[in-house]
Amino acid sequence: MPFTPYHFGPNGFVGLVFRRWIDLPIFLLANVIIDIEVLFADGWAVHRQWHFHTFLVGGAVCAVFAVTAWPARHLFEKLMQSFHLSYETGLWKMVFSGILGAWFHVFIDAIYHYDVQPFWPRPKNPFWRLLNQGQVKAICLAFIVAAVALYLYTVIKAKAVRCGAQSNRESTSE
Ligand SMILES: [Zn+2]
Repeated sequence: MPFTPYHFGPNGFVGLVFRRWIDLPIFLLANVIIDIEVLFADGWAVHRQWHFHTFLVGGAVCAVFAVTAWPARHLFEKLMQSFHLSYETGLWKMVFSGILGAWFHVFIDAIYHYDVQPFWPRPKNPFWRLLNQGQVKAICLAFIVAAVALYLYTVIKAKAVRCGAQSNRESTSE
């Protein structure tokens, strides 16, 4: 995609829905890791090369990223708390989320860009033009809206449950 934050829609929504199994910060940050190569590629390479934008290399890079992020899990917990979201993780959950996050990114970019090779070393891109570029952008934007709505719903619901539990405690202690 021309703009990494487009990816935050699909990954944010899926990451929120499956928060029990997906480490949301890792799942989102995988998008940034994959697109790091785009920052450098145009300056460095004569031809556009997409090493991270493959299931194999991208998945491996984000798995390594997840392992190196493991010592920082308490920071992620604080970050999630500041967004009023609970956070439970484990090493394998982080690695799984890194790989899956990378694959989501590669799949979406492969639909959008003809020169992405998702199944590298095989050169074919069977996903290109599965949808046109306008449709891909529209779907990503719709997912951003859905992710924000789901986030608000999750936070409000958690707050209501907390308030309910508190008033229950108060009424039983009376
Ligand atoms: Zn990308």
